[in-house]
Amino acid sequence: MTLALPTTPGIYGLIFWLSQDCHTRIGRLGTYNFPAGWYGYWGSAHGPGGIAARVRHHLSLAARPHWHLDFLRPYGHIKAVLFETGSDRLECPWVHQVLTFPSAQVLVYGFGSQDCSQNCPAHLIYFGASFDLHALTKHLGNPRIIFIN
Ligand SMILES: [Zn+2]
Repeated sequence: MTLALPTTPGIYGLIFWLSQDCHTRIGRLGTYNFPAGWYGYWGSAHGPGGIAARVRHHLSLAARPHWHLDFLRPYGHIKAVLFETGSDRLECPWVHQVLTFPSAQVLVYGFGSQDCSQNCPAHLIYFGASFDLHALTKHLGNPRIIFIN
């Protein structure tokens, strides 16, 4: 699959759909229940290959899970990627803005936010069984977006 994603650094938000409830272990964080529905996972990509390389990692299934999302990833589908380029971009202000979206809630404290410098409760946010992606992108000031089949 060829994705029109930049190979430069930046931040991204993966819009992730879990088709059924799941109960799974997230590395050393512990074992949790994840209800079916829509999630967003926010991160930054400052390594080689930039945003494109990191998103490609998340689109495939990791043989050896590293990021918290790698543990949840096999149970769901990534439906869209929001992103912004720039070497100085931090995902945390984006997470704080996402948390003010009406249906946003944190289910697992510390998920994806171990390296977080701005006290985000998590970088994984649950939106409920249904949600309006268009309303979310508008809420976030219309970042760039691509849809995944
Ligand atoms: Zn953060």
